[in-house]
Amino acid sequence: MIIPSTYKGKTIAVLGLGKSGLSTLHALKKAGATVWAWDDKSDRNDLVDLTKADWSQIDLLVMSPGIPHTYPKPHPVADLARAHNVDIVCDVELLVQSQPKASYIAITGTNGKSTTTALIAHVLDVAGFDTQVGGNLGVPVLDLDPLDEDGVYVLEMSSYQLERTPSLCADVAVWMNISPDHLDRHGGLDGYIAAKKNIFANQSDEHFAIIGVDDPHSKSVFEESELTKAKRIAISAEGPVANGIFTDEDILIDEAFDIDGAQIMDLSGIKTLQGCHNQQNAASAYGAAMAIGAAPEWIVRAISSFPGLAHRQEIVTTLCGVQFINDSKATNADAASKALSSYENIYWIAGGQAKEGGIAQLKNQLSTIKKAYLIGAAEDDFAQTLDGLLPYQRCQTLDVATKAAFKDAKETGGVVLLSPACASWDQFASFEARGDAFKEIVHTLDEEEAA
Ligand code: ADP
Repeated sequence: MIIPSTYKGKTIAVLGLGKSGLSTLHALKKAGATVWAWDDKSDRNDLVDLTKADWSQIDLLVMSPGIPHTYPKPHPVADLARAHNVDIVCDVELLVQSQPKASYIAITGTNGKSTTTALIAHVLDVAGFDTQVGGNLGVPVLDLDPLDEDGVYVLEMSSYQLERTPSLCADVAVWMNISPDHLDRHGGLDGYIAAKKNIFANQSDEHFAIIGVDDPHSKSVFEESELTKAKRIAISAEGPVANGIFTDEDILIDEAFDIDGAQIMDLSGIKTLQGCHNQQNAASAYGAAMAIGAAPEWIVRAISSFPGLAHRQEIVTTLCGVQFINDSKATNADAASKALSSYENIYWIAGGQAKEGGIAQLKNQLSTIKKAYLIGAAEDDFAQTLDGLLPYQRCQTLDVATKAAFKDAKETGGVVLLSPACASWDQFASFEARGDAFKEIVHTLDEEEAA
């Protein structure tokens, strides 16, 4: 646990008692701070209603990233903090203040953050670095271990967290990509990009800015002269970029760092990093690991042995020549399109609680799919979109869909892919619960086959 000891004797307001809020509460109490914690939805009996508190006594507000302080409408507590000149931060700010000697690799972007964060942490582990990984992914940062000057924190940072971490100075800032998302919280695309650009704040010329340039917004960010004082490296999964790190016909090429031979490795055979989007993730992770000083041979070895992350194109098993892939994290059409372009002969399980636009954008991308198995609230809507374009079956539940897909796929071999292009909340508590349910169903198929 990190103990933010500079707050000893101070009074700190904590708003939002989810995972990171609770972790902040415990860490600050350990540090000897007086903590006034509040959550509109909690019925704990030790809370202080921050809307009625004496703000003249409060030194800092730590706000959960899930709660808005500006758009679409500020939480009343954020307004009170501003009215009393109290700074609003998130837990990552307390980490970076408390652990100034360690190095920081921060990762942001619309898609691929978790995969790239996990991959960088894996590479640094294999390369022998003392590494702690957390942030938006996995463990709240104040639950991580303290690190000295040899240690590296690898932090996945959402746009919300980046707005509330003024002291972050990333030794290596990794910017993946930008597509419109969470716009209501940032007052539009410009606000979203501006929030994310905080990842480059405070950097100087010994630091690195590793920037994906495959979408127009990110390309402009890369070209902005005032963006950062750090050394910039462009990343692309779409072919050569000057002095950058890129993939060309599946080969990872490094023209950024001065090493023997620019051709680093062939990514095509790495089962946990299938698809062009994962090549972007691998190239970014390679760049970050080089920037922090890992040796290229260790990086190559580690990328090849990446175990992958659960629920993101996760390989479940192969049964009777049929591969089962759990991509439950694909909660929108954009994410599902990545998985659909990563395989052939797909028996596709889709549906759930649809996002705006449904799967209309996938209409031109159905050639890898043999048949669709539709579930959940989106069933009618998706059936309408696919009508006349692709064979589909209405299955209602994941159980029925998985069994039907397996039955069909067994005939020809292929991939049963759960990549729902939908939120899970109509039938499951979360995308994780949906993915776990899928894996359980697949394992019962396995037992039935074995019997
Ligand atoms: P995030 O943490 O940013 O949500 P993840 O690594 O969890 O990203 O990946 C979520 C989904 O987004 C994956 O299932 C995959 O389909 C898609 N994805 C992963 N990496 C990328 C990328 N570099 N560009 C676009 N989409 C991606």
